[in-house]
Amino acid sequence: MKRLNRIVVAGGGTAGWMAAAAIARTLGKAVSVSLVESEAIGTVGVGESTIPPLVAYNRLLGINEAEFMRATQATFKLGILFDGWRDGTDRYFHSFGLTGKDHWSAGFQHFWRYGLERGFDRSYDDYCLELVAAMSAKFAHLPDDRMNYAYQLDSGLYAKFLRAMAEKDGTRRVEGRIARVELDGETGHIAALHLDSGEAIEGDLFLDCTGFRALLIEGALHAGHDDWTHWLPCDAAIAIQTESVAPPVPYTRAIAHEAGWQWRIPLQHRRGNGIVYCSRYMDKDAALDRLLSTIEGKTLVEPNFLRFGAGARRRQWHRNCIAVGLSGGFMEPLESTSIHLIQRAVLRLIRMLPLGEISERDVAEFNDQQMADMLQIRDFLVLHYKVTNRGDSPFWRYCRDMEVPDTLAQKIELFRETGRVFRRNEELFAENSWVQVMMGQGITPAAWHPIAEKLPDEELGRLFAGLADQVSRTVAGLPEHAAYVAHYCGTPDSV
Ligand code: FAD
Repeated sequence: MKRLNRIVVAGGGTAGWMAAAAIARTLGKAVSVSLVESEAIGTVGVGESTIPPLVAYNRLLGINEAEFMRATQATFKLGILFDGWRDGTDRYFHSFGLTGKDHWSAGFQHFWRYGLERGFDRSYDDYCLELVAAMSAKFAHLPDDRMNYAYQLDSGLYAKFLRAMAEKDGTRRVEGRIARVELDGETGHIAALHLDSGEAIEGDLFLDCTGFRALLIEGALHAGHDDWTHWLPCDAAIAIQTESVAPPVPYTRAIAHEAGWQWRIPLQHRRGNGIVYCSRYMDKDAALDRLLSTIEGKTLVEPNFLRFGAGARRRQWHRNCIAVGLSGGFMEPLESTSIHLIQRAVLRLIRMLPLGEISERDVAEFNDQQMADMLQIRDFLVLHYKVTNRGDSPFWRYCRDMEVPDTLAQKIELFRETGRVFRRNEELFAENSWVQVMMGQGITPAAWHPIAEKLPDEELGRLFAGLADQVSRTVAGLPEHAAYVAHYCGTPDSV
Protein backbone atom coordinates (compact mmCIF):
# COMPACT_ATOMS: atom_id res chain seq x y z
CA MET A 1 0.00 0.00 0.00
CA LYS A 2 1.30 3.45 -0.91
CA ARG A 3 1.62 5.43 2.32
CA LEU A 4 0.17 8.90 2.61
CA ASN A 5 2.98 10.84 4.17
CA ARG A 6 3.43 14.19 2.42
CA ILE A 7 1.07 16.88 3.70
CA VAL A 8 1.14 20.24 1.97
CA VAL A 9 -0.45 23.28 3.59
CA ALA A 10 -1.25 26.07 1.13
CA GLY A 11 -1.39 29.38 3.00
CA GLY A 12 0.10 30.61 6.23
CA GLY A 13 -2.57 32.63 8.00
CA THR A 14 -4.06 31.54 11.31
CA ALA A 15 -5.54 28.48 9.58
CA GLY A 16 -2.34 27.35 7.89
CA TRP A 17 -0.17 27.64 10.96
CA MET A 18 -2.78 26.17 13.33
CA ALA A 19 -2.92 23.16 11.01
CA ALA A 20 0.82 22.79 10.48
CA ALA A 21 1.65 23.18 14.18
CA ALA A 22 -0.93 20.63 15.30
CA ILE A 23 -0.04 18.04 12.66
CA ALA A 24 3.70 18.39 13.15
CA ARG A 25 3.38 18.22 16.94
CA THR A 26 0.94 15.30 16.97
CA LEU A 27 2.42 13.12 14.25
CA GLY A 28 6.08 14.02 14.40
CA LYS A 29 8.10 12.22 11.78
CA ALA A 30 5.20 9.97 10.73
CA VAL A 31 4.38 12.56 8.05
CA SER A 32 6.24 15.43 6.42
CA VAL A 33 4.60 18.85 6.48
CA SER A 34 5.38 21.65 4.02
CA LEU A 35 3.68 25.04 4.14
CA VAL A 36 3.68 27.56 1.31
CA GLU A 37 2.79 31.17 1.96
CA SER A 38 3.25 34.45 0.25
CA GLU A 39 4.34 37.48 2.22
CA ALA A 40 3.42 39.66 -0.74
CA ILE A 41 -0.20 38.46 -0.60
CA GLY A 42 -0.36 38.60 3.19
CA THR A 43 -3.18 37.44 5.46
CA VAL A 44 -6.69 38.70 6.12
CA GLY A 45 -5.30 40.46 9.19
CA VAL A 46 -8.33 40.18 11.49
CA GLY A 47 -9.64 37.65 14.00
CA GLU A 48 -9.07 38.53 17.62
CA SER A 49 -11.85 37.10 19.70
CA THR A 50 -12.04 33.39 20.50
CA ILE A 51 -14.11 30.88 22.45
CA PRO A 52 -13.14 28.44 25.24
CA PRO A 53 -12.22 25.35 23.18
CA LEU A 54 -9.04 27.20 22.10
CA VAL A 55 -7.75 26.77 25.65
CA ALA A 56 -7.98 23.00 25.20
CA TYR A 57 -6.37 23.21 21.75
CA ASN A 58 -3.35 25.02 23.14
CA ARG A 59 -3.09 22.55 26.01
CA LEU A 60 -3.23 19.67 23.54
CA LEU A 61 -0.24 21.15 21.74
CA GLY A 62 1.61 21.54 25.03
CA ILE A 63 1.66 25.33 24.82
CA ASN A 64 2.60 27.26 27.95
CA GLU A 65 -0.28 29.66 28.52
CA ALA A 66 1.65 32.60 29.93
CA GLU A 67 4.21 32.38 27.13
CA PHE A 68 1.42 32.23 24.56
CA MET A 69 -0.34 35.22 26.12
CA ARG A 70 2.84 37.26 26.15
CA ALA A 71 3.53 36.39 22.52
CA THR A 72 0.01 37.20 21.29
CA GLN A 73 -0.71 40.16 23.62
CA ALA A 74 -3.75 38.17 24.77
CA THR A 75 -6.26 38.99 27.44
CA PHE A 76 -8.83 36.65 28.99
CA LYS A 77 -12.38 36.59 27.70
CA LEU A 78 -15.46 35.54 29.66
CA GLY A 79 -18.08 36.27 27.03
CA ILE A 80 -19.62 38.95 24.84
CA LEU A 81 -21.57 42.04 25.85
CA PHE A 82 -24.32 42.74 23.31
CA ASP A 83 -25.50 46.34 23.12
CA GLY A 84 -28.71 47.38 21.44
CA TRP A 85 -29.71 44.08 19.83
CA ARG A 86 -33.17 43.81 21.33
CA ASP A 87 -34.51 47.33 21.00
CA GLY A 88 -31.58 49.65 20.43
CA THR A 89 -31.01 50.64 24.05
CA ASP A 90 -30.74 47.29 25.86
CA ARG A 91 -27.70 45.30 26.94
CA TYR A 92 -27.22 41.64 27.62
CA PHE A 93 -24.28 39.33 28.17
CA HIS A 94 -23.57 35.97 26.59
CA SER A 95 -21.14 34.35 28.98
CA PHE A 96 -19.07 31.20 28.76
CA GLY A 97 -20.37 29.98 32.10
CA LEU A 98 -23.30 28.09 33.48
CA THR A 99 -26.11 29.89 35.23
CA GLY A 100 -27.47 28.78 38.60
CA LYS A 101 -27.92 25.10 39.16
CA ASP A 102 -29.70 22.72 36.79
CA HIS A 103 -31.78 19.75 37.82
CA TRP A 104 -31.32 16.76 35.49
CA SER A 105 -34.89 17.18 34.32
CA ALA A 106 -34.92 20.94 33.86
CA GLY A 107 -32.42 23.72 33.37
CA PHE A 108 -32.10 26.54 35.90
CA GLN A 109 -34.11 28.85 33.63
CA HIS A 110 -37.26 26.91 34.58
CA PHE A 111 -36.70 27.64 38.28
CA TRP A 112 -35.84 31.25 37.54
CA ARG A 113 -38.93 31.67 35.35
CA TYR A 114 -41.21 30.18 37.98
CA GLY A 115 -39.52 32.40 40.56
CA LEU A 116 -40.43 35.42 38.46
CA GLU A 117 -44.04 34.33 38.63
CA ARG A 118 -43.75 34.07 42.40
CA GLY A 119 -42.32 37.56 42.75
CA PHE A 120 -38.57 36.84 42.80
CA ASP A 121 -37.41 39.42 40.30
CA ARG A 122 -33.64 39.07 40.56
CA SER A 123 -31.89 39.15 37.20
CA TYR A 124 -30.99 35.80 35.61
CA ASP A 125 -27.50 37.26 35.20
CA ASP A 126 -26.84 37.31 38.95
CA TYR A 127 -26.46 33.54 39.03
CA CYS A 128 -23.61 33.26 36.53
CA LEU A 129 -20.06 33.54 37.82
CA GLU A 130 -18.39 34.33 34.48
CA LEU A 131 -20.96 37.01 33.73
CA VAL A 132 -20.72 38.80 37.06
CA ALA A 133 -16.90 38.55 36.98
CA ALA A 134 -16.81 40.01 33.46
CA MET A 135 -19.06 42.92 34.36
CA SER A 136 -16.82 43.63 37.36
CA ALA A 137 -13.71 43.42 35.10
CA LYS A 138 -12.27 40.65 37.27
CA PHE A 139 -10.55 37.40 36.46
CA ALA A 140 -8.45 34.59 37.90
CA HIS A 141 -7.81 30.96 37.15
CA LEU A 142 -9.95 29.02 39.59
CA PRO A 143 -9.33 25.45 40.76
CA ASP A 144 -10.85 22.72 38.54
CA ASP A 145 -11.32 25.24 35.72
CA ARG A 146 -14.35 26.61 37.57
CA MET A 147 -14.18 29.77 35.50
CA ASN A 148 -14.63 29.02 31.82
CA TYR A 149 -12.70 31.38 29.59
CA ALA A 150 -11.20 32.06 26.19
CA TYR A 151 -8.75 34.65 24.85
CA GLN A 152 -8.76 37.94 23.01
CA LEU A 153 -5.57 37.89 20.98
CA ASP A 154 -3.68 39.21 18.00
CA SER A 155 -4.21 36.41 15.49
CA GLY A 156 -1.24 37.53 13.36
CA LEU A 157 0.98 37.08 16.39
CA TYR A 158 -0.69 33.76 17.15
CA ALA A 159 0.18 32.55 13.63
CA LYS A 160 3.77 33.70 14.18
CA PHE A 161 3.94 31.88 17.52
CA LEU A 162 2.61 28.68 15.96
CA ARG A 163 4.98 29.05 13.04
CA ALA A 164 7.98 28.97 15.37
CA MET A 165 6.56 25.84 16.99
CA ALA A 166 5.77 24.13 13.70
CA GLU A 167 9.18 24.86 12.23
CA LYS A 168 10.84 23.53 15.36
CA ASP A 169 8.79 20.37 14.93
CA GLY A 170 10.00 19.92 11.37
CA THR A 171 7.54 21.83 9.15
CA ARG A 172 9.24 23.12 6.02
CA ARG A 173 8.15 26.66 5.13
CA VAL A 174 8.30 27.75 1.52
CA GLU A 175 7.96 31.41 0.61
CA GLY A 176 6.31 32.14 -2.71
CA ARG A 177 3.14 32.66 -4.68
CA ILE A 178 1.21 29.64 -5.90
CA ALA A 179 0.71 30.31 -9.59
CA ARG A 180 -0.89 27.03 -10.66
CA VAL A 181 -2.44 23.94 -9.12
CA GLU A 182 -1.62 20.76 -11.04
CA LEU A 183 -4.20 17.98 -11.07
CA ASP A 184 -3.48 14.32 -11.70
CA GLY A 185 -5.00 13.52 -15.12
CA GLU A 186 -6.31 10.16 -13.95
CA THR A 187 -7.67 10.73 -10.44
CA GLY A 188 -8.37 14.44 -10.53
CA HIS A 189 -6.46 14.73 -7.25
CA ILE A 190 -4.06 17.59 -6.67
CA ALA A 191 -0.58 16.47 -7.67
CA ALA A 192 1.48 19.61 -7.04
CA LEU A 193 1.48 23.34 -6.41
CA HIS A 194 3.57 25.33 -8.86
CA LEU A 195 5.10 28.53 -7.58
CA ASP A 196 6.10 31.68 -9.42
CA SER A 197 9.71 30.71 -8.74
CA GLY A 198 9.26 27.57 -10.85
CA GLU A 199 9.42 25.30 -7.81
CA ALA A 200 6.83 22.50 -7.68
CA ILE A 201 5.61 21.20 -4.35
CA GLU A 202 4.23 17.70 -4.61
CA GLY A 203 2.12 16.06 -1.94
CA ASP A 204 -0.36 13.35 -1.02
CA LEU A 205 -2.79 15.51 0.95
CA PHE A 206 -3.30 19.25 0.49
CA LEU A 207 -4.84 21.62 3.02
CA ASP A 208 -6.35 24.69 1.43
CA CYS A 209 -5.62 27.51 3.87
CA THR A 210 -5.53 30.23 1.22
CA GLY A 211 -8.30 32.23 2.89
CA PHE A 212 -11.17 33.77 0.92
CA ARG A 213 -9.29 32.91 -2.32
CA ALA A 214 -9.97 29.17 -1.81
CA LEU A 215 -7.37 28.55 -4.48
CA LEU A 216 -7.34 24.76 -4.26
CA ILE A 217 -10.74 23.62 -3.02
CA GLU A 218 -12.73 25.96 -5.28
CA GLY A 219 -10.25 27.39 -7.76
CA ALA A 220 -8.92 23.99 -8.82
CA LEU A 221 -11.50 21.48 -7.55
CA HIS A 222 -14.79 23.41 -7.74
CA ALA A 223 -16.17 21.92 -4.53
CA GLY A 224 -19.21 24.24 -4.60
CA HIS A 225 -20.56 26.78 -2.15
CA ASP A 226 -23.81 27.10 -0.18
CA ASP A 227 -24.95 30.68 0.10
CA TRP A 228 -26.45 31.79 3.44
CA THR A 229 -26.52 35.53 2.78
CA HIS A 230 -30.33 35.65 2.94
CA TRP A 231 -30.03 34.69 6.62
CA LEU A 232 -26.83 36.53 7.41
CA PRO A 233 -26.98 39.54 5.10
CA CYS A 234 -23.96 41.45 6.45
CA ASP A 235 -21.32 41.32 3.74
CA ALA A 236 -18.66 43.89 4.57
CA ALA A 237 -16.45 44.99 7.43
CA ILE A 238 -13.86 47.61 8.26
CA ALA A 239 -11.27 46.87 10.92
CA ILE A 240 -9.02 49.34 12.69
CA GLN A 241 -6.69 49.15 15.66
CA THR A 242 -6.44 51.83 18.31
CA GLU A 243 -4.38 52.55 21.36
CA SER A 244 -5.93 51.33 24.61
CA VAL A 245 -7.64 54.08 26.55
CA ALA A 246 -8.59 52.00 29.56
CA PRO A 247 -7.45 48.77 31.21
CA PRO A 248 -8.54 45.77 29.09
CA VAL A 249 -11.79 44.14 30.19
CA PRO A 250 -12.35 40.38 30.00
CA TYR A 251 -15.05 40.56 27.34
CA THR A 252 -15.70 41.52 23.75
CA ARG A 253 -18.39 44.02 22.85
CA ALA A 254 -20.84 43.66 19.96
CA ILE A 255 -22.70 46.94 19.52
CA ALA A 256 -25.65 46.88 17.13
CA HIS A 257 -26.20 49.76 14.69
CA GLU A 258 -28.84 50.41 12.08
CA ALA A 259 -27.31 48.10 9.45
CA GLY A 260 -25.12 45.66 11.39
CA TRP A 261 -22.86 45.93 14.40
CA GLN A 262 -19.45 47.01 15.71
CA TRP A 263 -16.87 45.09 17.69
CA ARG A 264 -14.46 46.17 20.41
CA ILE A 265 -11.83 43.71 21.50
CA PRO A 266 -9.34 44.75 24.19
CA LEU A 267 -5.86 43.23 23.95
CA GLN A 268 -2.94 43.96 26.26
CA HIS A 269 -1.26 46.52 24.03
CA ARG A 270 -4.13 47.89 21.94
CA ARG A 271 -7.78 47.57 21.11
CA GLY A 272 -9.27 45.93 18.02
CA ASN A 273 -12.28 47.76 16.58
CA GLY A 274 -14.41 47.08 13.59
CA ILE A 275 -17.72 47.57 11.92
CA VAL A 276 -19.70 44.82 10.22
CA TYR A 277 -22.46 46.01 7.90
CA CYS A 278 -24.80 45.07 5.12
CA SER A 279 -23.84 46.94 1.97
CA ARG A 280 -27.46 46.86 0.80
CA TYR A 281 -28.37 49.22 3.63
CA MET A 282 -25.16 51.12 4.40
CA ASP A 283 -22.41 52.31 2.10
CA LYS A 284 -18.70 52.14 2.74
CA ASP A 285 -18.30 55.86 3.51
CA ALA A 286 -21.14 55.84 6.04
CA ALA A 287 -19.69 52.72 7.67
CA LEU A 288 -16.23 54.28 7.90
CA ASP A 289 -17.68 57.52 9.32
CA ARG A 290 -19.59 55.60 11.91
CA LEU A 291 -16.56 53.55 12.90
CA LEU A 292 -14.22 56.52 13.13
CA SER A 293 -16.70 58.62 15.06
CA THR A 294 -17.24 55.94 17.71
CA ILE A 295 -13.77 54.57 18.35
CA GLU A 296 -11.78 55.81 21.29
CA GLY A 297 -8.02 56.36 21.31
CA LYS A 298 -5.48 57.12 18.61
CA THR A 299 -5.63 54.89 15.53
CA LEU A 300 -2.54 52.77 14.96
CA VAL A 301 -3.09 51.54 11.40
CA GLU A 302 -5.00 52.42 8.25
CA PRO A 303 -8.52 50.93 8.08
CA ASN A 304 -8.70 47.41 6.62
CA PHE A 305 -11.71 47.05 4.24
CA LEU A 306 -13.11 43.54 3.83
CA ARG A 307 -15.90 42.00 1.75
CA PHE A 308 -17.41 38.55 2.31
CA GLY A 309 -20.53 36.48 1.94
CA ALA A 310 -21.93 34.11 4.53
CA GLY A 311 -21.86 30.52 3.42
CA ALA A 312 -19.95 27.26 3.38
CA ARG A 313 -17.99 25.20 0.93
CA ARG A 314 -20.35 22.34 -0.01
CA ARG A 315 -17.59 19.77 0.32
CA GLN A 316 -14.97 20.72 2.87
CA TRP A 317 -12.93 17.65 1.96
CA HIS A 318 -12.88 16.92 -1.75
CA ARG A 319 -10.54 14.38 -3.37
CA ASN A 320 -7.18 14.93 -1.62
CA CYS A 321 -7.88 18.49 -0.52
CA ILE A 322 -9.32 19.76 2.74
CA ALA A 323 -10.47 23.33 3.25
CA VAL A 324 -9.36 24.80 6.57
CA GLY A 325 -10.22 28.35 7.61
CA LEU A 326 -11.81 30.97 5.40
CA SER A 327 -11.43 28.77 2.31
CA GLY A 328 -14.06 26.48 3.88
CA GLY A 329 -16.62 29.22 4.34
CA PHE A 330 -17.35 32.25 6.41
CA MET A 331 -19.84 33.44 8.94
CA GLU A 332 -19.53 36.86 10.47
CA PRO A 333 -17.49 37.04 13.69
CA LEU A 334 -20.49 37.80 15.93
CA GLU A 335 -19.83 34.82 18.22
CA SER A 336 -16.10 34.48 17.42
CA THR A 337 -16.47 31.10 15.76
CA SER A 338 -14.05 31.14 12.80
CA ILE A 339 -10.86 30.21 14.62
CA HIS A 340 -12.89 27.53 16.37
CA LEU A 341 -13.93 26.05 13.03
CA ILE A 342 -10.26 25.91 12.05
CA GLN A 343 -9.54 24.03 15.25
CA ARG A 344 -12.43 21.61 14.60
CA ALA A 345 -11.27 20.91 11.05
CA VAL A 346 -7.66 20.34 12.10
CA LEU A 347 -8.46 17.99 14.98
CA ARG A 348 -11.05 16.16 12.92
CA LEU A 349 -8.53 15.69 10.12
CA ILE A 350 -5.91 14.36 12.51
CA ARG A 351 -8.47 11.85 13.80
CA MET A 352 -9.32 10.76 10.26
CA LEU A 353 -5.87 10.93 8.74
CA PRO A 354 -5.59 8.18 6.13
CA LEU A 355 -2.80 5.66 6.35
CA GLY A 356 -2.66 5.13 2.60
CA GLU A 357 -5.43 5.53 0.06
CA ILE A 358 -8.08 8.09 1.03
CA SER A 359 -11.31 6.37 2.03
CA GLU A 360 -14.46 7.93 0.63
CA ARG A 361 -16.09 6.93 3.93
CA ASP A 362 -13.65 9.17 5.79
CA VAL A 363 -14.35 11.98 3.36
CA ALA A 364 -18.12 11.65 3.77
CA GLU A 365 -17.85 11.45 7.56
CA PHE A 366 -15.59 14.48 7.72
CA ASN A 367 -17.87 16.51 5.49
CA ASP A 368 -21.00 15.56 7.46
CA GLN A 369 -19.42 16.43 10.79
CA GLN A 370 -17.85 19.70 9.62
CA MET A 371 -21.08 20.81 7.94
CA ALA A 372 -23.10 19.93 11.07
CA ASP A 373 -20.83 22.26 13.07
CA MET A 374 -21.33 25.04 10.57
CA LEU A 375 -25.10 24.65 10.40
CA GLN A 376 -25.42 24.76 14.19
CA ILE A 377 -23.28 27.89 14.36
CA ARG A 378 -25.23 29.44 11.49
CA ASP A 379 -28.53 28.95 13.33
CA PHE A 380 -27.10 30.45 16.50
CA LEU A 381 -25.91 33.55 14.63
CA VAL A 382 -29.20 33.98 12.78
CA LEU A 383 -30.99 33.91 16.17
CA HIS A 384 -29.35 37.25 17.09
CA TYR A 385 -30.93 38.95 14.08
CA LYS A 386 -34.29 37.22 14.00
CA VAL A 387 -35.36 37.58 17.61
CA THR A 388 -35.48 41.33 18.05
CA ASN A 389 -37.97 44.09 18.68
CA ARG A 390 -35.94 46.41 16.48
CA GLY A 391 -37.84 47.73 13.50
CA ASP A 392 -36.13 51.10 13.37
CA SER A 393 -34.32 50.60 10.03
CA PRO A 394 -34.84 48.65 6.80
CA PHE A 395 -32.01 46.30 7.84
CA TRP A 396 -33.64 45.36 11.13
CA ARG A 397 -37.07 45.06 9.55
CA TYR A 398 -35.61 42.66 7.00
CA CYS A 399 -33.99 40.57 9.76
CA ARG A 400 -37.07 40.57 11.98
CA ASP A 401 -39.35 39.49 9.16
CA MET A 402 -37.09 36.97 7.38
CA GLU A 403 -37.92 33.27 7.26
CA VAL A 404 -35.36 31.30 9.26
CA PRO A 405 -34.17 27.68 8.89
CA ASP A 406 -36.71 25.17 10.31
CA THR A 407 -34.10 23.91 12.77
CA LEU A 408 -33.84 27.39 14.28
CA ALA A 409 -37.57 28.12 14.18
CA GLN A 410 -38.18 24.92 16.18
CA LYS A 411 -35.62 25.92 18.81
CA ILE A 412 -37.02 29.43 19.21
CA GLU A 413 -40.65 28.38 19.43
CA LEU A 414 -39.94 25.49 21.78
CA PHE A 415 -38.17 27.88 24.15
CA ARG A 416 -40.83 30.54 23.82
CA GLU A 417 -43.62 28.11 24.70
CA THR A 418 -41.97 25.83 27.25
CA GLY A 419 -38.60 27.26 28.35
CA ARG A 420 -36.88 24.13 27.07
CA VAL A 421 -33.65 24.01 25.05
CA PHE A 422 -31.85 20.87 24.02
CA ARG A 423 -28.26 20.54 22.95
CA ARG A 424 -28.15 18.13 20.07
CA ASN A 425 -25.16 16.17 18.77
CA GLU A 426 -22.53 17.86 20.91
CA GLU A 427 -23.32 21.20 19.31
CA LEU A 428 -20.90 23.97 20.15
CA PHE A 429 -23.32 26.29 21.88
CA ALA A 430 -24.83 24.52 24.87
CA GLU A 431 -28.16 25.18 26.57
CA ASN A 432 -26.97 28.12 28.63
CA SER A 433 -25.74 29.99 25.54
CA TRP A 434 -29.11 29.60 23.87
CA VAL A 435 -30.98 30.63 27.02
CA GLN A 436 -28.83 33.73 27.59
CA VAL A 437 -29.11 34.89 24.00
CA MET A 438 -32.81 34.10 23.59
CA MET A 439 -33.69 35.89 26.83
CA GLY A 440 -31.26 38.69 26.01
CA GLN A 441 -32.86 39.17 22.62
CA GLY A 442 -36.25 39.45 24.26
CA ILE A 443 -37.94 36.08 24.77
CA THR A 444 -39.35 35.29 28.20
CA PRO A 445 -40.67 31.72 28.11
CA ALA A 446 -44.43 31.42 28.64
CA ALA A 447 -44.09 28.35 30.84
CA TRP A 448 -41.71 26.39 33.06
CA HIS A 449 -41.12 22.78 33.95
CA PRO A 450 -43.59 21.58 36.62
CA ILE A 451 -40.70 20.42 38.81
CA ALA A 452 -39.98 24.06 39.69
CA GLU A 453 -43.32 24.20 41.51
CA LYS A 454 -42.20 21.43 43.83
CA LEU A 455 -40.27 24.06 45.77
CA PRO A 456 -42.27 26.16 48.23
CA ASP A 457 -41.57 29.92 47.98
CA GLU A 458 -39.39 29.87 51.06
CA GLU A 459 -37.11 27.19 49.64
CA LEU A 460 -37.05 28.85 46.25
CA GLY A 461 -35.99 32.11 47.89
CA ARG A 462 -33.24 30.32 49.82
CA LEU A 463 -32.01 28.64 46.62
CA PHE A 464 -31.84 31.93 44.72
CA ALA A 465 -30.18 33.83 47.57
CA GLY A 466 -27.63 31.06 48.13
CA LEU A 467 -26.64 30.83 44.47
CA ALA A 468 -26.38 34.58 43.95
CA ASP A 469 -24.46 34.96 47.18
CA GLN A 470 -21.96 32.29 46.16
CA VAL A 471 -21.37 34.12 42.86
CA SER A 472 -20.95 37.54 44.41
CA ARG A 473 -18.65 36.25 47.16
CA THR A 474 -16.43 34.48 44.61
CA VAL A 475 -16.27 37.58 42.42
CA ALA A 476 -15.47 39.81 45.39
CA GLY A 477 -12.38 37.68 46.00
CA LEU A 478 -11.10 37.91 42.42
CA PRO A 479 -8.36 40.32 41.29
CA GLU A 480 -8.84 42.96 38.62
CA HIS A 481 -8.49 41.39 35.18
CA ALA A 482 -5.88 43.85 33.86
CA ALA A 483 -3.66 43.43 36.91
CA TYR A 484 -4.04 39.66 36.78
CA VAL A 485 -3.00 39.55 33.11
CA ALA A 486 0.03 41.73 33.78
CA HIS A 487 1.05 39.60 36.74
CA TYR A 488 0.42 36.31 34.95
CA CYS A 489 2.35 37.35 31.87
CA GLY A 490 5.06 39.06 33.87
CA THR A 491 4.59 42.31 31.97
CA PRO A 492 4.14 45.86 33.29
CA ASP A 493 0.50 46.81 33.96
CA SER A 494 -1.39 47.54 30.74
CA VAL A 495 -2.82 51.07 30.43
P1 FAD B 1 -5.83 34.27 5.67
O1 FAD B 1 -5.46 34.92 6.94
O2 FAD B 1 -6.35 35.15 4.57
O3 FAD B 1 -4.54 33.50 5.13
C1 FAD B 1 -4.45 33.07 3.81
C2 FAD B 1 -3.03 32.64 3.54
O4 FAD B 1 -2.96 32.12 2.22
C3 FAD B 1 -2.01 33.77 3.60
O5 FAD B 1 -0.81 33.30 4.19
C4 FAD B 1 -1.76 34.10 2.15
O6 FAD B 1 -0.49 34.65 1.93
C5 FAD B 1 -1.88 32.71 1.55
N1 FAD B 1 -2.17 32.72 0.12
C6 FAD B 1 -3.30 33.10 -0.53
N2 FAD B 1 -3.14 32.98 -1.86
C7 FAD B 1 -1.89 32.50 -2.05
C8 FAD B 1 -1.13 32.17 -3.20
N3 FAD B 1 -1.60 32.33 -4.44
N4 FAD B 1 0.13 31.72 -3.02
C9 FAD B 1 0.67 31.57 -1.78
N5 FAD B 1 -0.01 31.87 -0.65
C10 FAD B 1 -1.27 32.33 -0.80
N6 FAD B 1 -12.33 34.77 13.67
C11 FAD B 1 -12.43 34.56 14.98
O7 FAD B 1 -12.33 33.42 15.44
N7 FAD B 1 -12.64 35.61 15.81
C12 FAD B 1 -12.83 36.87 15.37
O8 FAD B 1 -12.99 37.79 16.17
C13 FAD B 1 -12.80 37.10 13.98
N8 FAD B 1 -13.02 38.33 13.46
C14 FAD B 1 -13.07 38.48 12.10
C15 FAD B 1 -13.46 39.70 11.55
C16 FAD B 1 -13.59 39.84 10.18
C17 FAD B 1 -14.05 41.13 9.61
C18 FAD B 1 -13.26 38.76 9.32
C19 FAD B 1 -13.35 38.90 7.83
C20 FAD B 1 -12.86 37.56 9.87
C21 FAD B 1 -12.78 37.40 11.24
N9 FAD B 1 -12.44 36.18 11.80
C22 FAD B 1 -12.52 36.00 13.14
C23 FAD B 1 -12.00 35.09 10.96
C24 FAD B 1 -10.48 34.96 11.02
O9 FAD B 1 -9.89 36.16 10.62
C25 FAD B 1 -10.03 33.84 10.12
O10 FAD B 1 -10.77 32.69 10.37
C26 FAD B 1 -8.60 33.51 10.39
O11 FAD B 1 -7.79 34.63 10.33
C27 FAD B 1 -8.09 32.50 9.40
O12 FAD B 1 -7.86 33.04 8.16
P2 FAD B 1 -7.17 32.11 7.08
O13 FAD B 1 -5.88 31.64 7.63
O14 FAD B 1 -8.16 31.12 6.61
O15 FAD B 1 -6.93 33.12 5.86
